[in-house]
Amino acid sequence: MTKLTLDNVYGGFKVTKSSHIDEVCGELYELEHLKSGAKLIYLDCDDDNKVFSVMFKTLPENSTGVFHIIEHSVLCGSKKYPVKEPFVDLLKGSMATFLNALTFSDKTGYPVASCNDKDFANLMEVYLDAVFEPNCLTREEIFMQEGWHYEIEDKNGPMTYRGVVFNEMKGAYSSPDRLIIEEVGSALFPDTLYGYSSGGDPAHIPDLTYEQFKAAHKKYYHPENSYMFLYGNLDIKERLEFIDREYLSKYTRTGLHFDIPMQKPVINMDVTAEYPITESDTEEKNSYIAFSAVVADFSEREKILAFDILISALTSTNESPLKKAVLASGIGSDLSAFIYDGVAQPYVFFELRNTEPDKKEDFLNLLTNELKKLVKNGIDKKILNAEINQAEFHLREGKQGRTPVGLLYNFDIMSAWLYGGDPVMYLEYEQAIANIRKGAEGRYFEDLIEKFILDNEHKAVVVMTPSRTIAAKQAQAEADRIEAYRKTLSDAELEALVEKNRRLVAYQQSENTPEEIATLPKLEISDVGDDITEMPCEVKEYNGRTLLYTNAFTKKIAYINYYFDLSALKPEYLPYASLYATLLGEISTAKHSAADLDAEIKTNLGSFETSVKTFTKSDNIDSVTPVFCVRSSIIESNLDDALTLVGEVIDESRLEKNEIAKFIPQIKNDLQTSIIWSGDSYASLRVASYCSVEGAYQERMEGISYYFFIKELCDRFDKDFDEVKTALEAVAEQLTFDNLTIGITGEQSALDKFEKAAPLFRQGVSGEHYTIAPEYHGNEAFIIPSAVNFVAKGFNLIKDGFEYDESLNVLRNILSLDWLWNEVRVRGGAYGTGFSASRTGDACFTSYRDPGVKTTAETYDKTVGYLKDFAVKTPDIEKYIISTVSSYKRPICPRDLGFAAQTNWFEGRNDDMRRAGKRRVMSTTAQDIEKLSALVKKLTEKNLCAVVGNKEKIDEAGDLFTIKVSI
Ligand SMILES: [Zn+2]
Repeated sequence: MTKLTLDNVYGGFKVTKSSHIDEVCGELYELEHLKSGAKLIYLDCDDDNKVFSVMFKTLPENSTGVFHIIEHSVLCGSKKYPVKEPFVDLLKGSMATFLNALTFSDKTGYPVASCNDKDFANLMEVYLDAVFEPNCLTREEIFMQEGWHYEIEDKNGPMTYRGVVFNEMKGAYSSPDRLIIEEVGSALFPDTLYGYSSGGDPAHIPDLTYEQFKAAHKKYYHPENSYMFLYGNLDIKERLEFIDREYLSKYTRTGLHFDIPMQKPVINMDVTAEYPITESDTEEKNSYIAFSAVVADFSEREKILAFDILISALTSTNESPLKKAVLASGIGSDLSAFIYDGVAQPYVFFELRNTEPDKKEDFLNLLTNELKKLVKNGIDKKILNAEINQAEFHLREGKQGRTPVGLLYNFDIMSAWLYGGDPVMYLEYEQAIANIRKGAEGRYFEDLIEKFILDNEHKAVVVMTPSRTIAAKQAQAEADRIEAYRKTLSDAELEALVEKNRRLVAYQQSENTPEEIATLPKLEISDVGDDITEMPCEVKEYNGRTLLYTNAFTKKIAYINYYFDLSALKPEYLPYASLYATLLGEISTAKHSAADLDAEIKTNLGSFETSVKTFTKSDNIDSVTPVFCVRSSIIESNLDDALTLVGEVIDESRLEKNEIAKFIPQIKNDLQTSIIWSGDSYASLRVASYCSVEGAYQERMEGISYYFFIKELCDRFDKDFDEVKTALEAVAEQLTFDNLTIGITGEQSALDKFEKAAPLFRQGVSGEHYTIAPEYHGNEAFIIPSAVNFVAKGFNLIKDGFEYDESLNVLRNILSLDWLWNEVRVRGGAYGTGFSASRTGDACFTSYRDPGVKTTAETYDKTVGYLKDFAVKTPDIEKYIISTVSSYKRPICPRDLGFAAQTNWFEGRNDDMRRAGKRRVMSTTAQDIEKLSALVKKLTEKNLCAVVGNKEKIDEAGDLFTIKVSI
């Protein structure tokens, strides 16, 4: 049904175009606000998870990160909502399924999503007010807090830079993966905005003045430069009238327009840069070399999709033609590649890892020669068709995962709309896939390589080498710069700076008045239903094994999960189970070479993933089952062939030394990156391993111990291969029919088909069951080459005699969004922080990209003080309850629904228990929260800490950590 008529005006918006899009089963309307010039798209799809976003074209002119700082700052109070942090207040009391703000290289976006109409309207209003009428334009303290400022408490005391974005970017700039992308951007686009860091380079952030910050907002945050988006089941006319009445009618168009200039080809740009490593890290074979080339502009949708397919065909596995040649040459351990799109001029990126800087010419020659060979001899059609099948499968399957579908469509739309292209361009794919498939019969892909990579002039090479001294040099330069500035200041000016700091602290410590708080729209408990997302799981039998079935509409796709119990695997082999999970499907089998197997999998399956996992019984936390998961998605009509192939991978994979050897340094590299990026997960898992069985298992299979296991394996692999093989065989022996539980998600026809399928694979009963115990030898610090830290402190509450109570989830929101947010983020300058408590009792404080270590640990300890008299200070906790319960009823894609239902079954939970959990949350009182302080007190007294972070900061923490190891 058409909701809006072409050329009609609704709330000041004129409908300029409408089109039906088969691929998303919806109508897309383009509208323009006549008075202000604002552009808006409404995508009308049958989806209750509504989305609204307002985005601005924001074009950096330097690397001060001004748009990133604006993004943070506008969410710190506005005209209608003069509270200090409406964004956090919304997080506290909303049922949002998405609430965030994002800075891209050429735009800044403010998206929200919710299934609840009232909530959705509230979120829209607060966000619109934030972007158009923010308080940060009159309150410099907001800019100082979110961007940067000189931290100085006493005119004779130390003086440093501090600020949320400043620290966030320091963390980002510790990662070579991030740095190399920044360098590639500057090399390929020296004359346009893509040459700058839109997030902000920590060395340039302090160049930004408050005046420049305000000017940038004034210039870009006008409706005429905005791109609004609405999606889902909503009253569109009412929403348009609202936007017009409250905001857009106040603005008049001025002809404002920003062009994104296209970069003229830069010929053979060649750049060298350094990234930080720690004292103990090796410089040898630790460099990166990236080759990149601009291959398209935003309007070439088909070509960009084709490049995506092409790069996957050439590099997705160790046996893919281009990657295989690179690895065989011995110049590096890994080749990663992708197309960087969603920008005006997408480019391809090939990165050689673990190499030496003097291998640059070798790498470039090899790349050129191999690509020429492929052009001359043709790319294997089987590989190309497999990749096209895979791409098509994912396009048809639709968006999966936790991000609201509407928001993902919003990003697709922006990929053309921002640059003046047709907004539907990236939502449609049928024609593009058909053209590509047809083209693959001829020389379509070979031509792409020849024309756009080999004969391309617009390209750049970046060599990134490790440095033990660069971090110290940067720190020194920063200190010198501050000192030099300090010397220019008179006594009176220094006093003024100290006073400015005092005003900031006073601002941060000031409480909003009840009147200010009351301005924020909020939900009532009565707006929240008592229903939950049901996770149906029928328990059936398949040839004597348990089969868990979740019926769901999946467009004839079957999601089939195999779970193999690893209880009988010797504990010393647990890390090998993790390693085996990386290898399976990537190594050869008795019937197929690794390359052929990859093509078979991509032809016959939509996805194939293997991993290790643990299930812990909810009534006995010491009963932990480690499992090996094999997850696949399959078009129902192809079920038989696909299952046979999965069976072959499980039964007949071969352990060849030369194949496995390639993976070890690659895994090490990936883990290292992951630890620097998500140090908080590693630190909290480490703490869990001190006190719970589940933590101990997960740590060995996925935590820092696993990283050290792989690191050590790098050195001994060659000599100890027989031992490695024995251990991997021991893992493989556990993958038998007798150790299996099956999970199926799909339509009834998928289940029927599965039940008729041939026996899956070999039988085999395993021996005695092992279990492992938590281990604690002292608080541990893991040193990474980074200026920021990730601090964890926790314990297992059940082990310490407390009972798990669902109201802990309310406490989590209170601590994370109020106490910790104010102390660790706002005051402490950390990018993130939180408290969590799992059903299995692991409770933990964490911080993310945190400049502090000792101070943060001390803040955690002060939580008991915060909770003292909590019920008197904070009698009304309704908003925290609302944000907590929203997780019990949330949209979930079929793939994840089945997996969640199966996990519940393994852990002994069901929907009734989840319903009871929700009721418990809804009945939580402030007194209940206050009572939980006994638990927090115990947690802090136990003093179990782990940190991933900066050496100097860790040393400053004194004896808090007795064990210090470099990553
Ligand atoms: Zn940020």
